[in-house]
Amino acid sequence: RFCVTLVRRQHATIFTSSASKTIAANSLHHTFSNNYQQQQHRNLTTMKPTNTAVAEKGTSRSSRISADGSTSATGINVPPFNHPHCDRQAMYQQPVRKIKTLRGSYDYDLVVIGGGSGGLACAKEAVANGARVACLDYVKPTPIGTKWGVGGTCVNVGCIPKKLMHQASLLGEAVHEAAAYGWNVDDKIKPDWKKLVSSVQNHIKSVNWVTRVDLRDKKVEYINGLGSFVDPHTLSAKLKNGDRTITAQTFVIAVGGRPRYPNIPGAVEYGITSDDLFSLDREPGKTLVVGAGYIGLECAGFLKGLGYEPTVMVRSIVLRGFDQQMANLVAASMEERGIPFLRRTVPLSVEKQPDGRLLVKYECTETGEIGSDVFDTVLWAVGRKGLVDDLNLPNAGVLAHNDKIQVDCDEATNVPHIYAVGDIIHGKPELTPVAVLAGRLLARRLYADSDLRMDYADVATTVFTPLEYACVGLSEEDAVKAHGADEIEVFHGYYKPTEFFIPQKSVRYCYVKAVAQRHGDQRVYGLHYLGPVAGEVIQGFAAALKSGLTIPTLMNTVGIHPTTAEEFTRLSITKRSGLDPTPASCCS
Ligand code: FAD
Ligand code: NDP
Repeated sequence: RFCVTLVRRQHATIFTSSASKTIAANSLHHTFSNNYQQQQHRNLTTMKPTNTAVAEKGTSRSSRISADGSTSATGINVPPFNHPHCDRQAMYQQPVRKIKTLRGSYDYDLVVIGGGSGGLACAKEAVANGARVACLDYVKPTPIGTKWGVGGTCVNVGCIPKKLMHQASLLGEAVHEAAAYGWNVDDKIKPDWKKLVSSVQNHIKSVNWVTRVDLRDKKVEYINGLGSFVDPHTLSAKLKNGDRTITAQTFVIAVGGRPRYPNIPGAVEYGITSDDLFSLDREPGKTLVVGAGYIGLECAGFLKGLGYEPTVMVRSIVLRGFDQQMANLVAASMEERGIPFLRRTVPLSVEKQPDGRLLVKYECTETGEIGSDVFDTVLWAVGRKGLVDDLNLPNAGVLAHNDKIQVDCDEATNVPHIYAVGDIIHGKPELTPVAVLAGRLLARRLYADSDLRMDYADVATTVFTPLEYACVGLSEEDAVKAHGADEIEVFHGYYKPTEFFIPQKSVRYCYVKAVAQRHGDQRVYGLHYLGPVAGEVIQGFAAALKSGLTIPTLMNTVGIHPTTAEEFTRLSITKRSGLDPTPASCCS
């Protein structure tokens, strides 16, 4: 019922479908609640301390950790795994744990494992506050051999190349719009993938170089080695030419994650991930993007903008964890641009054909129907896995929860002198600024006598789809769950960006929404924006929301005209009223 009819010119098996492309998401939303926006407003105690995941891996060492985490294979006394609650209240009320620095006893005061967003920020801040610091970073090549330099995911295979390719795609759109604005533009313009990849990679290499120079100047010792624990204070670093053993009083684990591959035939042999896409040495062509999270939608968006043919395969809902009305508008805006969505569908196998193209078989999970199609590229965007495996955590007594590490309000693991920040920690937003701020604040608490903790609540974020979506605070669903439907008021409105008129761009999905307390102060719980430059629009409002923004304040804020951000100051229609939220004109 939920699979979209997708007519393929060749090799297609057709799924039957209803037109209800977007409705499916809502019905499933409550089933899947594992998302960080909800977790921001919950405490961590719902996660049971467990060593099952470690034991499942079958290492004799890890399986000897007792259920309460009291003894490890090496005979180390492991503190029990009973972290205090860490919700926002606890964050402000529990005393900050201080450590004493025992200078001279170890090679370093601090060893940071992972030279990405969180690790580098932490290492540099610690040195700036007088600590002796080493930072290890090591990248294992992808199955097709892609590798990169220091700086972690964001710089090399994440935010930066993604934003540059998104920009390339927006520029293509802008060139066509320019013609409507009177520019004499050659209408045969087309992108040059190899040139784009080369420009993006050159930029990344320059950032890698600047990072290394910066580390040297700031006196952080950079070690290009894979770290694994020997004991709670000793790390073995696997270098190009042999191993090196280093000791430290304190460790920060900031190893981040890598893309998952589905467990189906041909996935690893023939599919690629975002780790490969930004340096792909051939045009992606017709691309099956499997996964409808941030990465899947963003990649499909810029591939379409660059003139390729992406199809998005959606297992259940689009943008799990986000406000589902907004998520469905994002998907609809992509479909309007000609990106097909295969809903309720999972891949079954990938085979390489004699002509080198990839035959993908897939199944509609609702009807059980089997379909197939041929693609030039299959991109797995099915989530990411924390890189705990190489760390040999049992040797240090640190317990992992599946592939993540649980930390308390101080970012401490169950072993008091071993901390973790960034994507590797359980249940927090996997975003660069989150990793950076958490790493920096941790270093200040450790070495600068600071009491300031990381606040993981109300983190603003943007999905860089062709029409961008940004939000901060609660989704409508989570606000209803937290406060009850009668206690929230949703202000909303469609709008028409002035600059869309001349090129006659679709304004159908330009929409803003404020989710607020219904009575009393009318405190704003969440803001959602779908439109151009969404991240730039929502960033300032994020500060306002964190400072206690209310609906009266929002309405008494004078807008900047003509902008799209001003639409938040013009909100007056509530969902409850049932009034039409479509604007009559641009300026009244
Ligand atoms: P990482 O940056 O992943 O760094 C960890 C480093 O540790 C890596 O270099 C890794 O190779 C290394 N390492 C791992 N194990 C070891 C070991 N045992 N020894 C030594 N080194 C090790 N976030 C945003 O905020 N905005 C965006 O627009 C955005 N876009 C993204 C787009 C994509 C395609 C992806 C994949 C991610 C994106 N992110 C974005 C998320 C962001 O990249 C991550 O949240 C951020 O990089 C996490 O930083 P980190 O320090 O935790 O880990
Ligand atoms: P997500 O977890 O957000 O999305 C994974 C998607 O893959 C979901 O749609 C999921 O479906 C689907 N999926 C999972 N397993 C399978 C399978 N076996 N077959 C088919 N589909 C499957 O992960 P992403 O990789 O997109 O992003 C990881 C993180 O990186 C994000 O959470 C974000 O924090 C960060 N990031 C941030 C960006 C930004 O700030 N703009 C951009 C990109 C990444 P289902 O819902 O059914 O589980």
